[in-house]
Amino acid sequence: MGRKITIVGAGQAGLQLGIGLLGRGYDVRIVSNRSRESLRVGKVMSSQCMFDLARSFERDEKLNLWDDTCPPVQGIAFAVPDGEGGRAIEFSARLDAPAQAVDQRVKMPRWMDEFERRGGTLEFHDASVSDLGQYAKDAELVIIAAGKGEVAGMFERDAERSVYDAPQRALALTYVTGMTPRPEHSAVCFNLIPAVGEYFVFPALTTAGPCEIMVFEGIPGGPMDCWDDVTTPAEHLAKSKWILETYLPWEASRCANVELTDDNGVLAGRFAPTIRKPIAVLPDGALVLGLADVVVLNDPITGQGSNNASKCAQIYLDAIIEHGSRPYDREFMEATFEKYWDIAQWVATWTNALLAPPPPFVLNALGAATQIPQVAHRFVNGFNDPRDYFDWFMDPAKSEQYIASFA
Ligand SMILES: Cc1cc2nc3c(=O)[nH]c(=O)nc-3n(C[C@H](O)[C@H](O)[C@H](O)COP(=O)(O)OP(=O)(O)OC[C@H]3O[C@@H](n4cnc5c(N)ncnc54)[C@H](O)[C@@H]3O)c2cc1C
Repeated sequence: MGRKITIVGAGQAGLQLGIGLLGRGYDVRIVSNRSRESLRVGKVMSSQCMFDLARSFERDEKLNLWDDTCPPVQGIAFAVPDGEGGRAIEFSARLDAPAQAVDQRVKMPRWMDEFERRGGTLEFHDASVSDLGQYAKDAELVIIAAGKGEVAGMFERDAERSVYDAPQRALALTYVTGMTPRPEHSAVCFNLIPAVGEYFVFPALTTAGPCEIMVFEGIPGGPMDCWDDVTTPAEHLAKSKWILETYLPWEASRCANVELTDDNGVLAGRFAPTIRKPIAVLPDGALVLGLADVVVLNDPITGQGSNNASKCAQIYLDAIIEHGSRPYDREFMEATFEKYWDIAQWVATWTNALLAPPPPFVLNALGAATQIPQVAHRFVNGFNDPRDYFDWFMDPAKSEQYIASFA
């Protein structure tokens, strides 16, 4: 048996890392506070649209189990309403490789099966801090992959790296069937409603088959921060349609016949984007390492969390393998997280920027994308690896220079 590693949390990051480690001979236990059944019949948790780079790490572990059944997301379309029923900005482009959104209610129970089938130990338990002490005695390395779960609170907020200390959007999800497909090719249709919020929608696979996932991002206190008085799934759907009819008539027109996928195909909530220190110290002095959302929690506006979770799991997997038989000490944990931060910081900076009103140079770049197909293509494909935005979109001078090169 290889070195013993315990992971708390069976989401995108915990399961992907756990399965990756099993494949390299490690002895892995995953602790989950949700059973397969509670996940399957519970509420939706995310819109989990994943782009090709993140998906490639799933393919490496043979975890791409829905390529034949999940409808592909072939591009991204971007629109800004003009306030008079039309669009001030409108462009679209194809992704070089399709994205995909498999409902976590489908994916995680199946990955749990896969984890056990490949030799992992899966335990169902809501891990407390005192449990972690025991895990740290039993295993050489304990990784906390508990997402937004309470145990994440053990990891100190990094005040320097966290830009916001309050939620920046009122979030809602609505899973539906019966939406009119977008012509030409499927896409994430992303709509930015100035001073109100954002709405995006794309095809996905849910428990009952193909669907579309609507994601609402309302600026707090504004008209799309409207979910508090919604008490039933039917009201949630009606509110979703009201937003589209009020602000985005072209999206509303696709929704004449939509129905909820199921009564649990709805979610509303909010959280503050937070960067945390990567290591938590247990009462007896043992150290545990945070993974993915536990340490870098972004607003979903750019749809990067599951992508980041996959990238983080891959970076930790590589670091653990490379570390060989040496002890998993503080130095290892800090270096491993910093490798992830090398990519995550760009995603966080870009995501946080999109939560603020767009500065003129960003509007200029979006305007250029309506005229120049290469600019649209680059913007769209940046979602796969947002580091590219820092070579143009996020930098006023470089952006201007890049756009001018097409003159
Ligand atoms: C509204 C919304 C829309 C989103 N849309 C997208 C999108 O389109 N694209 C994208 O890439 N990302 C999206 N995300 C983000 C994405 O869902 C998360 O970033 C991703 O799921 C994080 O994976 P994770 O493994 O770190 O955590 P999670 O997926 O949260 O998994 C953590 C697991 O740990 C379990 N757990 C928690 N505490 C304990 C405990 N004490 N003991 C045992 N188990 C525990 C939880 O139950 C959960 O199963 C969205 C998020 C939201 C909220």
